[in-house]
Amino acid sequence: MMPDPSLKILKTIQEMHEVSEKFRYEGKKIALVPTMGCLHKGHASLIERARSLADIVITTIFVNPTQFGPNEDFARYPRDFEHDKAVARTAGSDIIFSPNTDEIYPAGFSSLVEVEGVSNILEGAFRPKHFRGVTTIVAKLLNLTKPHAAIFGQKDAQQAFLIRKMVRDLNFDVDIILAPIVREPDGLAMSSRNIYLNEVERKNALVLFHSLQHAAERIQRGERSATLLRKEIRDILQSGSPTKIDYISFVDLASFSETDSFDSSEILIALAVRFGTTRLIDNFLVPIPS
Ligand code: AMP
Repeated sequence: MMPDPSLKILKTIQEMHEVSEKFRYEGKKIALVPTMGCLHKGHASLIERARSLADIVITTIFVNPTQFGPNEDFARYPRDFEHDKAVARTAGSDIIFSPNTDEIYPAGFSSLVEVEGVSNILEGAFRPKHFRGVTTIVAKLLNLTKPHAAIFGQKDAQQAFLIRKMVRDLNFDVDIILAPIVREPDGLAMSSRNIYLNEVERKNALVLFHSLQHAAERIQRGERSATLLRKEIRDILQSGSPTKIDYISFVDLASFSETDSFDSSEILIALAVRFGTTRLIDNFLVPIPS
């Protein structure tokens, strides 16, 4: 493939600092899209959103070891830099920052950023230390790229909440923007991890979308029993023969706490379900008619 002069690839902290400093000095507006690569249309939608907001779009590609548990998929996480370059370029990225692990975590690294409380529920309960890894790398990437805005997906709703909280608590001067979940035509939320699914698991995994759709319709039509809705969601999920259902949760978005009451204007239904060795998450934001 011919090198594309319009897409710059940066690998080192020094280069990234220099380039973002230069753009800031020139008065350019910078938008950041942090990713772990294996880019799909969900990531592309974030890059397109960034493109619409800023003069310079920086996509970071870094499979961050500190957000994976010891028995998780860090080693086998899909990596395909040529593919990622093509997706990032087409979606409108100007720069890919793709540092090596040693560049980000040199020997002796020992500073961590942790948002207490919400980091330990839902995803955090099943993935201890995961969010500490996420908030630490996002803090570093914000310092490195100096963006005016950073775009995150609603797909990782708890992550987005925690990043917003970190930015507020620690006074990062950046707007955190959320983009909607991009789905496959049949409804499965796009994820880099979907490629782990075999043909049967891929079909069965649709129960996440179907159970969320069902619950959203029931809430729209007036159902207010969390116990009943949770049972109906579980029944639909079970029909896809999952290996394990980690959680079915109703979440109050203001505090990101689990709730069984439907007295605010909207509620998040969040799921985490395993098929074989693949763990999938999905969520719907459901308006609650008064
Ligand atoms: P990841 O590479 O999985 O760490 O994701 C990088 C960013 O892309 C995060 O902000 C995710 O929430 C977002 N993202 C992942 N999947 C989707 C999707 N299907 N739709 C929209 N955003 C997504």
